[in-house]
Amino acid sequence: MPTSHLEITGVKQKQAWQDKVLPPVELVRPGLLSIPVIFPDNPMRYTLCYALFDNQDCVIVDPGFDSNEGQQQIAQALHNINIDISEISGIIATHFHHDHLGMAARLARASGAWIALGEDERRYISDFEDVHAEVLKDQARMKVWGVPHERRAEAAMSVDGLMLMKNLADPDLRLADGQQLETAGSQLRISASPGHTPGHICLWDDDHELVLAGDHVLPRISPNVSLEIRGDTDPLRKNIASLKRIAENNHYEVAPAHEYRFRGIADRADALLQHIQSRSDEVLDILAQGAPSVHEVARRLSWSRGWDSLGKLQFRLALSETAAHVQYLVTSGIHEGVPGLPHA
Ligand SMILES: [Zn+2]
Repeated sequence: MPTSHLEITGVKQKQAWQDKVLPPVELVRPGLLSIPVIFPDNPMRYTLCYALFDNQDCVIVDPGFDSNEGQQQIAQALHNINIDISEISGIIATHFHHDHLGMAARLARASGAWIALGEDERRYISDFEDVHAEVLKDQARMKVWGVPHERRAEAAMSVDGLMLMKNLADPDLRLADGQQLETAGSQLRISASPGHTPGHICLWDDDHELVLAGDHVLPRISPNVSLEIRGDTDPLRKNIASLKRIAENNHYEVAPAHEYRFRGIADRADALLQHIQSRSDEVLDILAQGAPSVHEVARRLSWSRGWDSLGKLQFRLALSETAAHVQYLVTSGIHEGVPGLPHA
């Protein structure tokens, strides 16, 4: 996907990304610190956590994956601007994923901070009573999707994965689309951006022409959009609408939750929309050739590192992303679906 038209503003971050090291803590503008927080055992390597601060308050956006090392990274960065972790007043997560909201519970315990999420962000994957029953249910779904018997356990959520989601903090506050939030010296405009998750939000800082974009738009990779249990029934359609919507203010600096900062959000959203369209065409071609299941469509799709290299989580994401595409074609009236889809 072309990224050359983007102006990279996180120059040190991009260099660090290429060098496969952790980028530095950076003052993005007065009152806004970017803090890389380790995301262990994941190719993303880190989450870019942000600290908004003034003389009175410190609000953390996307505290990242829950780990001792990550907590240390945040504590050290705050310490350098004379803020103690116990002084954090609020925590906002752009979405309900463990590499964003994970450390919120720990930071809230240490500080008494409030935790905020988008108003449409609900527990979906983690909305279960019995974790073992949930694993079996998910494996049954993988069977319907045509996943061969020997790979069903790999494709389905694991007990550990589900518990990681289950243990995420519940919010004290909900942020609504269009809401203005004045906090820690910043005026933030909330915009709903469903797609990557049902209740993902972006935070626009109009005074400083900057947007905290979470995982909605990243400079290099295409954020995952998956059909998930109890999630949106048509997440790809919502994502397309959200990408069209975010294309305002192309000159704003984008502060994403992974990779590096850049300018050119409209161009980037456009490239992502084109990528979705060509992927959709590819899925339709494969369906037209008679592929009988989500698994078979996924297997025949082109994957940058090859289908055979996709294991565990990547395998699951490939399947649920393919399912989101099939669902989109069905709800567009273009295809009648495969077993398990349309999904209601
Ligand atoms: Zn993320």
